[in-house]
Amino acid sequence: PMAAAPVLEVQDVAVHYGGVKAVDGVTLTMRPGLIYGIIGPNGSGKSTLIGAITRMTKLTRGDVLIDGSSYRRTRPHKLAALGVARTFQTVRLLPDLDVRRNIQLGADTAGRGGGDVSVAEVIERTGLTGMEEYFPSELSYGTQRRVEIARALVMGPRLLLLDEPTAGMNQTERAEISELMQGMRGGGLCQLLVEHDVQMMVDTCDYVYAMTSGRLIAEGTPTEVVQNPLVQEAYLGR
Ligand code: ADP
Ligand code: MG
Repeated sequence: PMAAAPVLEVQDVAVHYGGVKAVDGVTLTMRPGLIYGIIGPNGSGKSTLIGAITRMTKLTRGDVLIDGSSYRRTRPHKLAALGVARTFQTVRLLPDLDVRRNIQLGADTAGRGGGDVSVAEVIERTGLTGMEEYFPSELSYGTQRRVEIARALVMGPRLLLLDEPTAGMNQTERAEISELMQGMRGGGLCQLLVEHDVQMMVDTCDYVYAMTSGRLIAEGTPTEVVQNPLVQEAYLGR
């Protein structure tokens, strides 16, 4: 059978900051309904790659295609309308807004009142029922992270980019995020997870890319990538 058409194509993308080659010639393809992972040591270019995909970072070279069309000229605030949503490496909730209003912001960003996805539905799906009126400072770190994911989900994305969503979480909270991501496969959502925890990666992802120094050094199933000698040397320090 023919593979589904890609949601995202990253074509020879480079992002250089002066002499620093943060991303240096990355090519990858992501298809609907699958969960992709990126592993790599600190400074290997994972966040910069997400910034390049979301147009927060200027490309030095290459192109990014969404649904087959280049969106080189698309401004970041228009991305939501194209179905691209992301979360950040550090929590970025608005402290003066309660959970419901923080999530509502995502719907407003998408500029279509949440599209097909309602705030109430997302609150339920992300396990935030009963917490709608809490403020971020009243929530555990793990719950704050879930609110961020909810804010991205309410945009009704086709592509969801999660930059280290489980950083600082305990094992139970990690498992909850993994389960949430598994549950979001339906409807063809394509997900990209930047993750340090190898077990989380193996449990969650269908296909994994490994980066060092701005380049891909391996790709394949999580098990293949974890066993790759280059990855063991560069990332796992073995
Ligand atoms: P990762 O997310 O894998 O830890 P980053 O993408 O944050 O890595 O960083 C990759 C490299 O690019 C690092 O060497 C970092 O210092 C550098 N870098 C990232 N952003 C900038 C920037 N705005 N200006 C200069 N250098 C940057
Ligand atoms: Mg990073």
